[in-house]
Amino acid sequence: MNKFEQLGLSESLLKAIKDLGFENPSEVQEKAIPLLLEKDTDLVALAQTGTGKTAAFGFPVIQKIDADNRNTQALILSPTRELCLQIANELKNYSKYEKGINVVAVYGGASITEQAREVKRGAQIIVATPGRMQDMINRGLVNIKNIDYCVLDEADEMLNMGFYDDICAILSDTPDEKSTWLFSATMPAEVARIGKQFMSNPEEITVGTKNSGSATVSHEFYLVNARDRYEALKRLADANPDIFSVVFCRTKRDTQAIAEKLIEDGYSAAALHGDLSQAQRDAVMKSFRGRQIQMLVATDVAARGIDVDNVTHVVNYQLPDEIETYNHRSGRTGRAGKLGTSIVIVTKSELRKISSIERIIKQKFEEKSIPSGIEICEIQLLHLANKIKDTEVDHEIDNYLPAINDVLEGLSKEELIKKMVSVEFNRFINYYKKNRDISVSGSDRRERNSERAPRENNNGGATRYFVNIGSRDNFDWMSLKDYLKETLDLGRDDVFKVDVKEGFSFFNTDAEHTDKVMDILNNVQLEGRRINVEISKNDGGGRRDHNGRNSGGRRDGGRREGGFRSERREGGFRGERSNSRREGASDRAPRRSESFGDSPRPRRPRRD
Ligand code: ADP
Ligand code: MG
Repeated sequence: MNKFEQLGLSESLLKAIKDLGFENPSEVQEKAIPLLLEKDTDLVALAQTGTGKTAAFGFPVIQKIDADNRNTQALILSPTRELCLQIANELKNYSKYEKGINVVAVYGGASITEQAREVKRGAQIIVATPGRMQDMINRGLVNIKNIDYCVLDEADEMLNMGFYDDICAILSDTPDEKSTWLFSATMPAEVARIGKQFMSNPEEITVGTKNSGSATVSHEFYLVNARDRYEALKRLADANPDIFSVVFCRTKRDTQAIAEKLIEDGYSAAALHGDLSQAQRDAVMKSFRGRQIQMLVATDVAARGIDVDNVTHVVNYQLPDEIETYNHRSGRTGRAGKLGTSIVIVTKSELRKISSIERIIKQKFEEKSIPSGIEICEIQLLHLANKIKDTEVDHEIDNYLPAINDVLEGLSKEELIKKMVSVEFNRFINYYKKNRDISVSGSDRRERNSERAPRENNNGGATRYFVNIGSRDNFDWMSLKDYLKETLDLGRDDVFKVDVKEGFSFFNTDAEHTDKVMDILNNVQLEGRRINVEISKNDGGGRRDHNGRNSGGRRDGGRREGGFRSERREGGFRGERSNSRREGASDRAPRRSESFGDSPRPRRPRRD
């Protein structure tokens, strides 16, 4: 007898559970299921994402409703359309051996009349997002006046998304005698308030530790210069050939742009944001679930509640504006007991945010450096060797073997292996041998944070910028200064020597703000036009040293992982690296398609 059989579940559910391949109940299931089956009670269950909450309420709901009665008996509220569909699907799977149970999903962005029609046909269980549910109630398209069970799933996320009023309105439309089950990963004040308002003497279940980030997620940050953000992302992907990740950007625009760049560079990536049609979003999620997409580039809103198993990495391409959002991002990995990594690509000016996040998640970040080209090549090489080893041979090719043997005749096994590996691998070598080291040393992050270089310090100096907005955009020097201070979140005297021309302007900041200026301003739009800021050669008349961004000193400082191993390997490419310099290769990494000449883009290893 397995443990599911001891929980009091019906035969038909046990059969479905067997089909699902669940061997033993998770902790929250073990605690919640017998309790909910046994009596009609309110319940507050706190458990991290990925702990199996859907089945914890889903099994009891299915077992307790009356399948012969077509009235709506259970309402499940969930924060997003994605989750709503997912829960509805799960419930359909759970109830597949139970005759006559109808589960209907009700969510925004799809036809409300169609949903109303499905409800009318007799939906004992409705899974809904709060907004659309409220809409249906207002139009008299559903009747939840007689429900017996109401489940608030991912309550903290729902409230985070501003559904407080909708939830209150919906719950007020339900009978007092029903049972309310609230499931949440955390218990912020708003969730507690809902609990107090709408529940009486709830049973409480807590799984794992309250309020902390999931212990199965480790947190890492990589310090880079703002201009290297994208290159860093690519290297992290290349250093993790099996990456299956959600990459978070701050804006829809960045999300789209980064996804496009990745695709252009040969990665299996896609964008997910609110400007996509519902059908496009569905298609993207389907490909992601099917593992055809390795890097899902998403906004916070679009990715809320995405529940895909086995996400290996969450990448914070940019940190969120609200650091609390970090928790929601990192919760996309490390699910169902699997380990996951949450990565932050960070610039110096954002380093203090890392400490704030550490306080919130009560976990420390590990500082890491972007892998060097050599390291990436090594990883890819082994990956390729393993791939060759694990490839199943399709015996269709047997017919061609004689001809192939003719061609390859005379090659020793060693030669053959070298050549086979080179077919795939030369592309990586060619790309990375030309590329510079982009990691930046930051182990002194805390000191650096607290010490502000005095303005007149010549070594830090000031940076002068060129920006493509000017009097034509209705700026004079004062209004531009105000605009920059505000946009860059800088202090009163941090922007100086503002010089406004017709179509462009110049201004200075202290060198310490350079990364921040480049990063933020290059991602800002002014009335639909993208702002472009560059570091000016012109020094603006004093108070500015060279900015040092391309100085050898900085680069060497970055090669701090040093050590015997990487030193030695670094040497391996040194000759070739200086060759490429002589040929006038730019410091910027060439795009892959450029460096591979007419050969196709390197195929990203697909996950099958
Ligand atoms: P939560 O709602 O707590 O975030 P889910 O209910 O979405 O978690 O479950 C996370 C994943 O774990 C799902 O893929 C689900 O199928 C799987 N799962 C749930 N319960 C079990 C179980 N008892 N054994 C194995 N896998 C399970
Ligand atoms: Mg869930």
